[in-house]
Amino acid sequence: MPKPASGRDFYIATADEIRAGRTTDIYFVRTLDVLKKAGRDRANVVAEVTTGGLPNGWPWGIFCGLEEVVHLLQGKAVSVWAIPEGSAFPAKTPRGIPVPVMVLEGPYGDWAMYETPVLGMICQASGIATKAARIRKAAGGKQVLSFGVRRMHPGIAPLIERSVYVGGLDAITTPLGAELLGAPAVGTMPHALVIVMGGPREAFAAVHKYLEAKIPRIALVDTYYDEKTEALMAVEAIPDLAGVRLDTPASRRGDFAAIVREVRWELDLRGHKDVKVFVSGRVDEQSIPALLEAGADGFGVGTSLSNAPTIDFAMDIVEVEGTPAAKRGKFGGRKDLQRCPKDGTYEIGAKTCPVCGSKMAPAYVRYLDRGRATTSLPTLAAIRERTLRETQRVPLES
Ligand SMILES: [Zn+2]
Repeated sequence: MPKPASGRDFYIATADEIRAGRTTDIYFVRTLDVLKKAGRDRANVVAEVTTGGLPNGWPWGIFCGLEEVVHLLQGKAVSVWAIPEGSAFPAKTPRGIPVPVMVLEGPYGDWAMYETPVLGMICQASGIATKAARIRKAAGGKQVLSFGVRRMHPGIAPLIERSVYVGGLDAITTPLGAELLGAPAVGTMPHALVIVMGGPREAFAAVHKYLEAKIPRIALVDTYYDEKTEALMAVEAIPDLAGVRLDTPASRRGDFAAIVREVRWELDLRGHKDVKVFVSGRVDEQSIPALLEAGADGFGVGTSLSNAPTIDFAMDIVEVEGTPAAKRGKFGGRKDLQRCPKDGTYEIGAKTCPVCGSKMAPAYVRYLDRGRATTSLPTLAAIRERTLRETQRVPLES
C-alpha cells in the first residue's frame, strides 16, 4: 500500500515521540539552547499550574490527567506536587489567589521541554472529567454512559474514556478502554441493526435470539416509527427486555421529555415497570433535569463529553534560585496551598478555614522527588470515588 508523504498511516504522536519532546512547542527547544549557551539551564526553578477561570463560569473543575504527567516526568530531575486526581478545585481561593493545582521544581533545563505536553495532558483530561462530573451530578443516581468516542480521533479514545470514568460515569464503550482501564464496556444497539435487519420487529427478534445471553437487552426504539409503537414492539419481541433507548432525531423531537413521559406511561400500563427508559442525543446537565422528571432511567451522552471545553491551565515560573519571580498578572513565590478537610475550601498559607473555621491540612501530595516516585499512584476506582465524594458537596452553579 502506498504510504503518504508523512510516512505514517495515522497522525498521532507515539509515546516515544512525546517523551523525546517532539510534541513540544519549538520555542521551548530554542529557549533551552539559549539557556545552555548562557550557562543558565541548571538554574533551579519553581513553576505553578493555575487557571485564570473555568469554562462557562463553572464554579469548580475536576483535576484529571496527573498520572500521565507523572509517567512523563519520572526519571527527569524534577519534583512534582499536586492535588490528587479527582479533586474538585475552584479557579481561585476565597482571597482571590489562583489555586495552583500542581507545582514543579528542578533545574529548568531538565523539564522546560515538557511544558507543552504536561499542560495538554491535564487541560484536556480535566475538561472532560469536569463535564462528566457535572453530568453525573445532574443525573443523580441514574446510569450515565459515554457515547462520545466517535466525535474525536480514535488515537485518544482511551484518554476520553479514562476521563469520563474519573468524572463518575458508569461505564465506557470500547473494548480497548475496558482493557486498559479495567472498567466495564457497555452498549445498546445501533440504528444500523434495525435497518440491515429490515425493520424493528426483525431486529428485536434477532437480538432476542442471538445476542449473548449475559448482555442486557436494550432496544433502540426510534428508527422508523413512533417511539411508543416501537417500544411496544420491543416488549413483545424480547421477553427479558431490560430497557428501551430513545435517540429521537432533533427534527422530530418537539418536547423530548413529553415523549419520554408517554413511553414510560405506556410501558407501565402494560405491566413493564421494570423496563428502563434510556435517552441519548444532545443530553447534557441542562436537559437532564426535565428528562429525569419525565421518568428517564439513564442517559447516553456523546459530543458534550468528548468535546468538553478544555480547562485553560497555564504553567508559570514563580521562583528562580529561591527568589520569588513572576510575570505580570501572576502571583510570585511558592504557595503553601492548604485545604479544609471538612468543606474542601482552598486557601494559601491559612491555618484555619476561612469558611468554617476548621483546621486546614496541606493540599498537595508529592508524586516525584527529583524524578523518583515518592508515592504509588491511586487506582482508577479510587480516583473516581474521590470525584464522586467531592462533587457531592459542591453546587452545579455558582
Ligand atoms: Zn471549612
